[in-house]
Amino acid sequence: MESLYCLRCNRELESGQKSVAVYVFAQTVGIRPRQKSAARRICFCPQCAVSLAMGPAPEGALNVQAWDMIRSLVAADSALNRAAWESLSGLLGLLPAGTEAHARPAVGGAYFEF
Ligand SMILES: [Zn+2]
Repeated sequence: MESLYCLRCNRELESGQKSVAVYVFAQTVGIRPRQKSAARRICFCPQCAVSLAMGPAPEGALNVQAWDMIRSLVAADSALNRAAWESLSGLLGLLPAGTEAHARPAVGGAYFEF
């Protein structure tokens, strides 16, 4: 299976890891023959999804549509917020010793650059 990366922070998302997926494909309408592009799967880690949702509207019509969808997910239930919080707590080593997150070696700081 191909590796998936968070579109925003480029963190690798292992299969089964919590994330938000946005699926997109393009299709012609009213034009023969009908054409359809391959579907793409765009992934965001929970922290980036929540961060995007809490942040200001992005530039660009397509970005605004995606932002709106992610915002509605974040606003509808606290589970995604909790996943982001757990992930952040794990990275900062704040979870009780012995948890998997704590035992993991430090992750590269690439996505903490502002
Ligand atoms: Zn991310």
